[in-house]
Amino acid sequence: MLIERIVAPNPGPMTLTGTNTYLVGDGAGNLAVIDPGPEDLPRHLDAILAAAHALGRITTVVVTHRHLDHLPLAIPLCKETGARLAGHPDLPGVEQPLGQNAPTFNGMVALHTPGHTRDSVCLWNASEATLFTGDLVLGSGTAVLDDAPGALTDYMSSLEQLFGLRPRTIYPGHGPIVPDGAAKLTEYLEHRRLRLQQVLDALGHHGPSTVAELAAAIYTDVAPSMLPMAGRNVRANLELLLSESRIERLDGDRWQLMR
Ligand SMILES: [Zn+2]
Repeated sequence: MLIERIVAPNPGPMTLTGTNTYLVGDGAGNLAVIDPGPEDLPRHLDAILAAAHALGRITTVVVTHRHLDHLPLAIPLCKETGARLAGHPDLPGVEQPLGQNAPTFNGMVALHTPGHTRDSVCLWNASEATLFTGDLVLGSGTAVLDDAPGALTDYMSSLEQLFGLRPRTIYPGHGPIVPDGAAKLTEYLEHRRLRLQQVLDALGHHGPSTVAELAAAIYTDVAPSMLPMAGRNVRANLELLLSESRIERLDGDRWQLMR
């Protein structure tokens, strides 16, 4: 399967080098575009159209989730090419709703993988063991969790679902292409288990603590501007541990180990 990556010119702390837009071909001149990118980027739209022009015709545009660095450019791209928009049924403007295992393009199927957002889908090509992960798995660093309750539980089971496929290559929404997908998923699962343990250890060491205190104790290596984001991850860990009755919540949003 032909796969070409076009990096959008929107680099930043959350988007790494920029959003990865993928052009995928079926060998018969039909093309799918995965994650066109943010709006107000005519330069990126032109780059996608130019790359497609040399290869065939864009018939499908797939969006992995609703975030503003992935979805908005799909609208002008579909308008320009007549392609139909495929994605999670909850995404605005979707013409081809992707249920679990729905055929998507050229043998790829959609997988529901909540955790980063509730409407996240991955695309799996079993014959080539290739996986498009959107923001569930990134080429470098770790993914950010949804703000919704239960996001970490969802995220862990999504990672386990993907690990069960033993993907060879992962094409992430940001950062470099991952040549050993199964190893990356192992690393991600171990990282999340380590964070859970770090929260338990910090509570054991410091006693009852707030989310901000735990974030500062655990994320000693991140810039202060990123601490609120780290706090979201800490809270997700606390919710998971609470659901397993390993910790309890005190007045004033303070947390302690279950006694
Ligand atoms: Zn995202």
